[in-house]
Amino acid sequence: METDLKFYKERLKERREELVAEIESAKESTKPVELDQASVGRLSRMDAMQAQEMALALERRKKEELVRIGSAMKRIETEEYGYCIDCEEPIAPKRLEFLLTVLTCVECAAKRE
Ligand SMILES: [Zn+2]
Repeated sequence: METDLKFYKERLKERREELVAEIESAKESTKPVELDQASVGRLSRMDAMQAQEMALALERRKKEELVRIGSAMKRIETEEYGYCIDCEEPIAPKRLEFLLTVLTCVECAAKRE
């Protein structure tokens, strides 16, 4: 079965836009925590720092996904997209749809673990 590259390309683009927008709107929460003792108590300052740490971790994950999307786009251009990088068999469409940037088929993913 042939992989519908156009379909995945659109899906990848959508996901990329979504991620860029999310990173943009999260900028407020990844800013350094202000240590303004007058307006923020000790506990809430710790809360704020914890929230910031979580926001940064989330941002890191999103940026990693953006990198994976970028390489998936390249693989679409070279028509390698949708093929397992280990056994070179087509990846099941359902798996690919769910995990747009996945590089291996189910069998090879299981072997890698
Ligand atoms: Zn495989």
